[in-house]
Amino acid sequence: MATLPAGAAAPAPLRDARPGISGVLPDDLVAWLAARDLPPYRARQIGDAVWRDDVVAFDDVRTLPASLRDGLAAAFRFDTVEDTETRLSDGGLTEKGLHRLSDGALVESVLMHYPARGAQRERHTLCISSQAGCAVGCPFCATGELGFTRDLETAEIVDQVRHAARRLTRDGKRLTNVVFMGMGEPLLNLDRVLAAVDALNDPDRFGLGARHITVSTSGVVPGIRRLTALGPQFTLAVSLHAARDALRDVLVPLNRRWPIAEVVAAARDHAAATGRRVSYETTMIGGINDTETDARAMAELLRGDHAHVNLIPMNPVAHTPWTASDPATIDAFAAILAEAGVTATIRRNRGQEIGAACGQLAAERAGEPAPAAVARRRARLVDESAHALRGERSREPAPAGVDG
Ligand code: SAH
Ligand code: SF4
Repeated sequence: MATLPAGAAAPAPLRDARPGISGVLPDDLVAWLAARDLPPYRARQIGDAVWRDDVVAFDDVRTLPASLRDGLAAAFRFDTVEDTETRLSDGGLTEKGLHRLSDGALVESVLMHYPARGAQRERHTLCISSQAGCAVGCPFCATGELGFTRDLETAEIVDQVRHAARRLTRDGKRLTNVVFMGMGEPLLNLDRVLAAVDALNDPDRFGLGARHITVSTSGVVPGIRRLTALGPQFTLAVSLHAARDALRDVLVPLNRRWPIAEVVAAARDHAAATGRRVSYETTMIGGINDTETDARAMAELLRGDHAHVNLIPMNPVAHTPWTASDPATIDAFAAILAEAGVTATIRRNRGQEIGAACGQLAAERAGEPAPAAVARRRARLVDESAHALRGERSREPAPAGVDG
């Protein structure tokens, strides 16, 4: 066997070509069985095992003949996600998990526990990733900083949920909500995300109600429209961050492709079609998007809409010149929205966990970029945001790979 020269990195493992079983449609499984002269009722047996929390391999499914168990293992992976690290924070209320995929790509999920409060029952919400890295490149986001690696497969998305469900079952609890707010832009991997949502929502598969599934987007307008056309009442979250195009061009670079008016029009149509309130996420960055002018622009933009704004203090991310807005500024921002009848929630602690947890562990594992590159990046952001605050639109093109 050839040996690597000293200091050379080991080559990344090849991606496993076998599809993950949780991403296979029940009808496709029936067809796979039929091609082997096996009866369709086996599909139901296999399906039941896949969605049970105490089964972790085809070999555990003892109701199936050994030859079929072997055949399944040769054709499909029972699990596509390997847990490599779990980190607790918030006194155990937040569990960040780092997962390795078959080709070595790393993605994160975050499980958040919300104890019962008054009439509100306890909730267990999982924040999942849809891509390894992200092409959109929002400068305040740890995932954006990593750049784009690849789209996740359907099963790689669903298996993050199966893992969390298994963990919860061990503690006698159930997963209540899934949010696509982890790494990646879900609407730029829409076919796989829709297939994953379908598996999660289907009563014969994972069986989570559509209302308990939230898809968050930085504003991929054709994707929002496809989601709306599907019909079910998924919750849509739009990462707005700024109500002025010049500033949003910098904070969410795909704004250069789909500007605010188009994004908000698509979100309004979604609210009208589904009856579900749209939530707008705004990461509050000190001195950048938290001014009175910004609050008034957002109030005017959303006045009268069936919408809710979440204000999330920016979690510090290396390599940006920015920090979170101070609490008094966020209060003043929320008060201006309230005057216009726009409801807002300030997510002081958990919001930071939700918004910024994803991508940070993976960024840490990716290692530190060279100091010169960090300095250049900071200088560019200072320059770009100064232009934006003067109201000048960006002349940069939309990021590559963003064509929805
Ligand atoms: N790509 C999608 C979904 C994943 S990002 C989107 O952008 O909507 C999920 C949320 O985390 C987004 O609202 C994003 O703006 C927020 N976020 C990213 N980095 C953050 C940070 N440093 N502090 C607070 N929120 C952050
Ligand atoms: Fe991508 Fe969302 Fe991060 Fe922007 S905030 S870089 S869209 S993951």
